[in-house]
Amino acid sequence: MKRILVTGGAGFLGSHLIDRLVEQGHEIVCLDNLQTGSLQNVKHLEGQITFIQHDITEPLPEMGMFDEIYNLACPASPVHYQANPVHTFKTSVLGALNLLELARKTNAKIFQASTSEVYGDPLVHPQPEHYWGHVNPIGIRSCYDEGKRGAETLFFDYARMYDVEIKVVRIFNTYGPRMDPRDGRVVSNFIVQSLQNKPLTVYGDGKQTRSFCYVDDLIEGFIRMMATPKEIQGPINLGNPNEFTMLELAEKVLLLTENEALLKFEPLPQDDPKQRQPVIDEAKKLLNWEPKVMLNEGLKNTITYFKEKV
Ligand code: NAD
Ligand code: UDP
Repeated sequence: MKRILVTGGAGFLGSHLIDRLVEQGHEIVCLDNLQTGSLQNVKHLEGQITFIQHDITEPLPEMGMFDEIYNLACPASPVHYQANPVHTFKTSVLGALNLLELARKTNAKIFQASTSEVYGDPLVHPQPEHYWGHVNPIGIRSCYDEGKRGAETLFFDYARMYDVEIKVVRIFNTYGPRMDPRDGRVVSNFIVQSLQNKPLTVYGDGKQTRSFCYVDDLIEGFIRMMATPKEIQGPINLGNPNEFTMLELAEKVLLLTENEALLKFEPLPQDDPKQRQPVIDEAKKLLNWEPKVMLNEGLKNTITYFKEKV
């Protein structure tokens, strides 16, 4: 049994990760400031895990020793991370610094939830890990993109300077049950809108693409990455290489919710990436991992969840 800290554990991905770790019999401390997460997401684990409400930009409380740290704390939806961009940047960079110090002092292995956003609006398609990206440093997405890039820098410098054992994954768009209905990301927006018989809000012409990974597949990738030998640090792309336009996604959601709601076209947000698809050869080779859940199946599970929620 290991003692494991999960930051952002009350969020969408964090709560699924904690479910898996609890199932495996580990002792879990979940640290979250509840900015975008909710205690509801971990309510079923009451009495089985320790919850600490805390912001990772502040000095961390005394929590004892850990074998492993998963750093997932950071709002992931553009709507939320742009609401207070300075705080988002601090969360990524200062937060990473605080957790890396904790890892250094307690000799813990540390995992970073990085993102496909480090590739920005990519000029190379699909995106392999060795692509350095195309990021606007001063735009409205920069607080997140550059924050996550800064966090990756800190992780690799801590590994080089202090021999901290790091595991960095770059997550591509992931969806599933426990996304917040007000989260603002495209999958939750489309499903909630369709269930409420509202028009689906398509930004721009809807021809921009994303590759959507189901949450269970992603968490399997996290667990495999954490279990790799020390020399495997990443960054490793985790995502589903099947790429769809937002119009195709809207069509699927309407079909699966048996709805004929209309589409409502709205302006494309600034710096919205035109295309995104992971190269997952590294994950296949080093983690023996690839996604198994197809979009239709994953969307069905997610729709069932939102039907109860909305
Ligand atoms: P989420 O918003 O549901 O979860 C983030 C959690 O972190 C929330 O519980 C929130 O309250 C907490 N948090 C935010 N700022 C914090 C702070 N300063 N201190 C403590 N807690 C804080 O988002 P998610 O989809 O679960 O994303 C989890 C992680 O994965 C994030 O780091 C995100 O950047 C990364 N990621 C997610 C995706 C995706 O598609 N879901 C893609 C790429 C990267
Ligand atoms: N999007 C959309 N309608 C929505 C929300 C998002 O068309 O209601 C688009 C958005 O412009 C982007 C894509 O869907 O091109 C994915 O957006 P999301 O916020 O889910 O993730 P990210 O942009 O971070 O990949």
